[in-house]
Parts: sequence; C-alpha cells; structure tokens
Amino acid sequence: KQPLVEIRNLKKYFPIKKGIFGRTAGHVRAVDGLDFTIYKGETLGLVGESGCGKSTTGRTLLQLLHPTEGQVYYKGKNLVGLPPAELRKVRKDMQMVFQDPYASLDPRLTVFDIIAEPLEIHNVAQGKEKIRRVEELLNTVGLSSYHAKRYVHEFSGGQRQRIGIARALALNPMLIVADEPVSALDVSIQSQVINLMQDLQEQFHLTYLFIAHDLSVVKHISSRIGVMYLGRMVELADKRDLFDSPKHPYTRALLSAVPTPSPLIKKERIVLQGDVPSPANPPAGCAFHPRCSECMAICKTDRPALRQVDGRYVACHLYN
Ligand code: SF4
Ligand code: MG
Repeated sequence: KQPLVEIRNLKKYFPIKKGIFGRTAGHVRAVDGLDFTIYKGETLGLVGESGCGKSTTGRTLLQLLHPTEGQVYYKGKNLVGLPPAELRKVRKDMQMVFQDPYASLDPRLTVFDIIAEPLEIHNVAQGKEKIRRVEELLNTVGLSSYHAKRYVHEFSGGQRQRIGIARALALNPMLIVADEPVSALDVSIQSQVINLMQDLQEQFHLTYLFIAHDLSVVKHISSRIGVMYLGRMVELADKRDLFDSPKHPYTRALLSAVPTPSPLIKKERIVLQGDVPSPANPPAGCAFHPRCSECMAICKTDRPALRQVDGRYVACHLYN
C-alpha cells in the first residue's frame, strides 16, 4: 500500500467573535489533532455526526481552509504553506464533490460551462477539444451531450450530482474528497450515485475520501473507515474489522443504528444520551465520556490517544 495523503497533527480552530469589536472569545475546535493516511486507490470512509469536523477535515486537507496547525503531505510533499502557484498545480490532482448539488453548482451557467470551467481555469483544453472533453465527461457520468445546453435547475438531484462529479473529473484528478455526496438525495438514488462512483474509481484509478454521517452509506464503498467525534478520530479500521468487531463505544453505537440485512439477526440499538457537546467547549478527558455507558474515572480526566489495537486504531481507555 502506497500512501497518497498523510495527515499529521492536523488542527483547524475557528475564532468565536463576540461583541461589536469582534473580540475573540475562544475557539471552535473543529479539527483537533488528526493523524491518518489515505492510501493510493483506496476509499477511506469518514463518518460521524454532524459537527464532528468531517467537512472541515476534507476542506483543510485540500487547503481550501488553512490549517491552524499540522501538516498535509501529498505524495510526500507538505501542502501547508506551499506558494500559491505550486499549490495550484497540486490542486489539479485533488477535487471535491459537494454535499448539496443544488447549492454548489452555479444556476446561471449551462451544464457545459460548469464542466468546462476547470478546463479553462487550468488552461487544458480550448475550442473543439474542450467541447469533445465535456461530451466525454458527460458520457462518463451517464449523461449525454444533449444535456450540455441546459441549466442545473432542469435536472433532478441525482443528475445534478452526476454533473458535479463530471466537473470534479475534468482535470483527471488522483484524489476526490466527496463530502456527503449522497446525503441530499433520495435513498433510491443514493445507491446509483455510489455505484457510479465505484465504477469511476476503477476506471480512473481514483482515491476517495468519502465523508458520510452514517455507516450504512460508506459500508459498500469503503476499504477502511475512520470514525470521528468532536474533531478527533476515535477509531480507524478496515471495513470488515469495524463492522465485525467495533471497539470504540461510539463506533458501537453508530453501528447499532445500521439496519441489518436479515431480520433474523437481532441486535440491540444503542441510543446515545444527550447531544454532541459543543466543539467550543469540549468535555475534559475523553470527549465522549458524558455519553459513554462504559465511562471510568480516568475517562473524565485523561484524553485517550489513538493507539494500535488488534490491527486497527482506537482511542479509548478500555484498551490500555
Ligand atoms: Fe468511554 Fe472511556 Fe472509552 Fe471514552 S475512553 S469511549 S469514556 S470507555
Ligand atoms: Mg459536513
């Protein structure tokens, strides 16, 4: 396995402004010390409730947001602090598919212009070649050149997400960060888009960071899965290991909400008490402790580090 992206001690804090002078009153610790690797050709699923820092992780990885601390290595090169011209070159390789295809595609542009835009920005195709490339991209995602002159409002949610994917593919990227690409779609459409993304991965040897808020969405497509809670990784494992024997109590709770394929397999639904605490004021020790049924004294004071346990990573005092 060859690392494509290596994230080291990544942090992203947002200042909280108070009062008319915009005084900084603390920080929201959206991403609070992440270490993980994305291997070439894999799909790493990233899961957690909303507000746990998944999107911020994706955006900080792509340098759409500047990290507060830490490094993001792409093919061994640290992207943090890279001069804009160099970053632009690397950014061709890394694209994003957004959660909401209604909001992320410009309604004033035709589908042709939406897909051609990255080709123009990076000066990779002009004239007839540009037209040919856009048609090819439309076909690749299951649309046709007949759709090119239309506007996004004329398309269904699933079709819009296909347009977003075509745009992301325009520059032949290596890595796609897909930020909840199917969350806004009907369940019946979700698997179509996921299947398309899997086909494209094979065809173009893509690497995915696939963000979702529940495990059932990433179950099919992921090779490995990372579970985030309040800006930190609490478990990172091969998909099979994670589904067969989840270690972290939070992973277990998330997993208990995934419907089983057979009604004969009975499982206890673990209902978490309370809401996710505010990332502006995370609980001391293990951030999950106020909601954890296995909380011990040490959990309230000491933050568990992400450690290797049985071939996966887990951050929990139960495994010390
Ligand atoms: Fe629960 Fe303690 Fe493990 Fe946190 S460290 S998940 S509180 S057992
Ligand atoms: Mg999000």
